[in-house]
Amino acid sequence: MQFRNLQRQYQVLKSQIDAGVSDVLASARFISGPQVKELEKALAEYVGVKHCITCANGTDALSIALRAWGVGKGDAVFVPDFTFFSTGECPADEGAAPVFVDVDPHTYNMDPVKLEQAVKRTIAEGKYRARAVIAVDLFGLPADYGAIQAICKKYGLLLLEDAAQGFGGSIGGKRACSFGDIAATSFFPAKPLGCFGDGGAIFTDNDDWADRIRSICVHGKDIGKPNDPNAKYNNVRIGKNSRLDTLQAAILLPKLEAFQSYELDQINTAASWYSEALKDTGLTLPMVPHGYYSSWAQYTIRLPENADRSKIQGELKKKDIPTMVYYAKPMHLQKAFSGTDSAAADCPVTSEICNTVLSLPLDPYISKEDVGYVAENIKTLLCQEEI
Ligand SMILES: *Cc1c(COP(=O)(O)O)cnc(C)c1O
Repeated sequence: MQFRNLQRQYQVLKSQIDAGVSDVLASARFISGPQVKELEKALAEYVGVKHCITCANGTDALSIALRAWGVGKGDAVFVPDFTFFSTGECPADEGAAPVFVDVDPHTYNMDPVKLEQAVKRTIAEGKYRARAVIAVDLFGLPADYGAIQAICKKYGLLLLEDAAQGFGGSIGGKRACSFGDIAATSFFPAKPLGCFGDGGAIFTDNDDWADRIRSICVHGKDIGKPNDPNAKYNNVRIGKNSRLDTLQAAILLPKLEAFQSYELDQINTAASWYSEALKDTGLTLPMVPHGYYSSWAQYTIRLPENADRSKIQGELKKKDIPTMVYYAKPMHLQKAFSGTDSAAADCPVTSEICNTVLSLPLDPYISKEDVGYVAENIKTLLCQEEI
């Protein structure tokens, strides 16, 4: 069994994907071909936001958004302690100080109460200017945007939505990537909507920010004169080289169709099979609050605190069941932040979660038999005393 079987999806979509790739190869428009624009339009429409700007990967998407706002030295950026490294790495890379905020023990997303405490503390200490929040839609579940947006408004903070794992999720029908002042997503192959390499996108309703983002993606080019062929070599700010390849756009176009029309439904069904099979086991199962819809980047359970997680993983591996630990270490304990103010965070919920989480095999094409097989093996192991 594979943790996320990407070959199965390719088999289903092969004829459309191969045709799209052939078209790009024949046209030789490998950079900024028409498929890129077409994809940006389709993504913006799906999300319900005015602008979508694709870029090289999800990490760049976060950094470019922060740079468009001028977030940097002297600024504090509030990020969850329980997330993938990029969420803290990007503000640090722009020169800002990430302030790690503990998460909710049920949703694993940023805890708005802890966020407000951290904002107040930062303002009182006066060392950094409280500037922005990066909320993460972890494992496919949108963060608590009602509460987080209210805090951002109250303290004048910019909200960046890290929807690298959240694309396709929604709250009350409003889609992920539409909650932040700017939102970022990733098309890394294993994300809910993945391409066949690295890719990312940035979303916003704000025209000025969208212009600045487009400029930063191409070396800070002057985008004020769209009809001037030489404007490309007129650089008005320090940018990056961060574009989505035309090939990846051509691959994503049919994948977005499948994602919308049935993959999201299928992965929600598969997640419900796990939840049904594992109820009454005493394990903590993923929680989707009322009105929320998850795109299930991961199906993550929590083992009993006294369980030997590595041993369970080893036993499951013997039964051909791969599992992953997302994430084993709180952000503030990463060596990269040691010796900085960011390392001083106090996040007891994250510390506990890191010790007990276990993510199970899942993708839109997994069979009910495979889910049942995984669940039965976990149940058997939990009954064995030495585990
Ligand atoms: C994957 C991920 C990123 C980075 O995306 P890449 O495309 O791999 O650069 C950022 N944030 C979160 C929460 C992620 O899971």
